[in-house]
Amino acid sequence: MSTPFILPPLPYADDALAPVISSNTMGFHYGKHHKTYVDNLNKLADGTDFAAMSLVDVIKKTAGVADKAGVFNNAAQIWNHTFFWESMKANGGGKPTGKIAELIDRDLGGYDKFKTDFAQAAVTQFGSGWAWLVADQGKLAIRKTGNAETPVSGSAVPLLTIDVWEHAYYLDYQNRRADFANAVIDKLLDWDRANERLG
Ligand code: MN
Repeated sequence: MSTPFILPPLPYADDALAPVISSNTMGFHYGKHHKTYVDNLNKLADGTDFAAMSLVDVIKKTAGVADKAGVFNNAAQIWNHTFFWESMKANGGGKPTGKIAELIDRDLGGYDKFKTDFAQAAVTQFGSGWAWLVADQGKLAIRKTGNAETPVSGSAVPLLTIDVWEHAYYLDYQNRRADFANAVIDKLLDWDRANERLG
């Protein structure tokens, strides 16, 4: 079986984000959950046209296609997780600088309101899903998506995300999703990446 889809290396050591995200959580989340999506997609794509496509093309081709839901879910979850790891860094979080800071003031009512609204999106996503900061037609917006749904299948440019599936926080925070989301916002968000992604 060919295995064209790969698990990208974590951009830091598995304990780099502790104590906000413990190495134990990272071991399961990256080492088991993220890896399983890669293994599943390689199995589903084997012998099909998907095996020759980029991950983003697989996502775009299968979004909303009922009989390709398995391919979509695994492909989108690979992309979302890689993007999540690259939305955080040790000693990140807090108020941004640069263009993203100006746009948060212009479009989202300032940093304090952004922080409240981004945490609220993370907390109110019912069940599994993701909270997103995106740029849509030149304006920043906060979004939430269910399960594997991803901005990649649409036109908005994703800038940062927080995984709010229970597997993202349950070992460290049990049911306290708000504590997890606020800790990521305060201590881990990588604003340098967000500025780069603005282009
Ligand atoms: Mn996850």
